[in-house]
Amino acid sequence: MAAFYAGLDIGGQSIKGIVVDEEGRVREELATPTPASQGAQAVLGAIGEVVGGLSRAGRLSSVGVGTPGGVDERGVIVGMAANISGWYGTGLGEAIASMAQAPCSVRNDGNIAAYAEWAARKGGSKCLLFLGLGTGIGGGYIEDGRIMGGRDDRAVEIGHVIVEPHGRTCACGVDGCAEAYASGPSIGRLAMAMGRGEDARLGSLASAAWTGAASGPLGASGATPTFPGSRLAARARAGDLLNAREVYEAYAAGDLLAAAVDAIAAEALARAVSIGLAVLAPDTVVLGGGVIAGAPHLPARIAALAQGRVYSDAWKHCAFEPARLSNRAGLLGAALYGASLVLSRAELIALAAATLG
Ligand SMILES: [Zn+2]
Repeated sequence: MAAFYAGLDIGGQSIKGIVVDEEGRVREELATPTPASQGAQAVLGAIGEVVGGLSRAGRLSSVGVGTPGGVDERGVIVGMAANISGWYGTGLGEAIASMAQAPCSVRNDGNIAAYAEWAARKGGSKCLLFLGLGTGIGGGYIEDGRIMGGRDDRAVEIGHVIVEPHGRTCACGVDGCAEAYASGPSIGRLAMAMGRGEDARLGSLASAAWTGAASGPLGASGATPTFPGSRLAARARAGDLLNAREVYEAYAAGDLLAAAVDAIAAEALARAVSIGLAVLAPDTVVLGGGVIAGAPHLPARIAALAQGRVYSDAWKHCAFEPARLSNRAGLLGAALYGASLVLSRAELIALAAATLG
């Protein structure tokens, strides 16, 4: 019998939907802007249109949903992260189950991306820690095929562990979070601050990176870097706005400032990941998101840095890998997670293999 597994990715910018059939073929895929400023009812209306469009494939068997922020086990929104007015307290899970006339589960989008990466390994990882480096740093932890979500699905906010006491201020309001050094926007801001010589608060992260690169482009430990010949530094001094993509393009071209920013971001990530290794004991750490797409060297770098930052058993038996799924991970992960509501583990892994190749 034909089965149609739907996935939704609901963010502050857009609502995306996908349907895969029992053979893993994508049968429908669509997106619409989120009418975030018009309030929760308008957003639910837009979700209803997407669900209606997905239902053209056939009667939906299940719906998995990923969304930013906190969500309780009944699918009620308990966080404000999607930036939608009146969104707090919305019974999203019940509303979508009613629209689709199918079982529905709503999870934090970092957890859904982690689930997608677990599914992409077809059961090859027992306990997988995922970090997604984009506008912020999201994360998730999958053990034996289950999302370990914690209270309101907010577990593994690994971007908000402190890697530098009294360090740069994070979007969450706390000083020194990993996200303040290694999210996409933070990497751009770091390049601008360092290029202009405004790096007084980089502290031990910079020292570690400087020391680690004593024979490399940064010169001797303790020296104030001037980044001779750096086009990126010249742009920063000229007042240009820089983003992570530009930093990593410059890195690939051998730019000294980009190398310094990369070293500091890698150190921040290595400290955060090391905390994850000590707390969760994963067998696989997956790094994904837009930043990693432009910086494919980072997983191996972080694996090497972790060796001095957590006891050896924690990193020795752990693989560090780039994400296998690109920007469709959230959607495909949502569809597969939804399918897990109605399929056995073996059926789910077979569907993941068929869907993800
Ligand atoms: Zn933070």
